Amino acid sequence: MTDYPTTPCASCKQPVIWTVTDKSKRMPVDAQPTSDGTVALTAAGSQVRSRVVEAKFRFGRKDLHKAHFSSCPQANTWRRR
Ligand SMILES: [Zn+2]
Repeated sequence: MTDYPTTPCASCKQPVIWTVTDKSKRMPVDAQPTSDGTVALTAAGSQVRSRVVEAKFRFGRKDLHKAHFSSCPQANTWRRR
């Protein structure tokens, strides 16, 4: 299911997918979708676009990813950038 390119996180080495948000910001998400994920991915050319899905539309979906900012054990390093 994950046919998006992954790269190891610079901090924790977990595989992440680098995406571009609808605000044109680069955001890494966990490579594996989870049932408590919040981010929908779509391929757009060479980019992967990410969009946060509203809570009411998330129910029952298993294709959503977690922002790696929230799951990375090194999250503090991220936030300081
Ligand atoms: Zn990480």
